[in-house]
Amino acid sequence: MENVREELILMIRLQRIYDRISEAITEQRTPPEDVRQLAEENRRRQLELEELQDRMEGLEAELQEVNRAQEESRMELEHFQRQKGMVTNEREFTAVINEIDFATQALEKATVRRQEIEEGIEALSSEIEERRKARPEEEDAHRDVTERWEHRRAKLTKEIHELAAEARRLEEQLQPANRSRFLRLLKSKHGTALAPAIEGSCSLCHFALRPHLQQRVRRAEEIIACEHCYRILYMPELENEAGPGEDGRG
Ligand SMILES: [Zn+2]
Repeated sequence: MENVREELILMIRLQRIYDRISEAITEQRTPPEDVRQLAEENRRRQLELEELQDRMEGLEAELQEVNRAQEESRMELEHFQRQKGMVTNEREFTAVINEIDFATQALEKATVRRQEIEEGIEALSSEIEERRKARPEEEDAHRDVTERWEHRRAKLTKEIHELAAEARRLEEQLQPANRSRFLRLLKSKHGTALAPAIEGSCSLCHFALRPHLQQRVRRAEEIIACEHCYRILYMPELENEAGPGEDGRG
């Protein structure tokens, strides 16, 4: 006959390991404040840089457009200036002069706009350059923060792997039926398969145990589940027999 008490003690030790694993996973998923701030800062800076680059591209496209318009106006101007020498009456002369005025204005407008765009591009590219140059200096200060966090995460990953191996080792010692029951509960009960019975109630769902069930839990001769949450119940005294808890870690 299986020794239920021993099985329960094994399960308590397993539950502790799984508790520690989920704690470590939570820590891994929660970067400390300085790391979060750094990531946020980098993201914002990257966005600003991208925005500057977008504006730059917009200006460059507009510059091409203005260059083309300027070239067209220049050609029109030349064309009408040649026509001016060939007019035969005043009406034609006035018409050509009007065209010349129009083309001249367009040319001037394009020239002014072109100047503006070129200045804009220059200002933008020096701003982009400056922001890029500003990064390495700041990165020194930030590298510490990032490296510390990477180091911590790597340590946690190692710990999780070691704990998982230890859990498998303990699971192999359980009776197959108890093992699958424990693992099934662990999965369906969000990582907590066991519950100590405290003052006659399941300590997790607080469901009051009927007296005869309390007695059976106390005897630890069979696996008793909470009638409400189905977790495996045990007497808190068994925790001492399971050895020091996680607080006992170096
Ligand atoms: Zn319960």
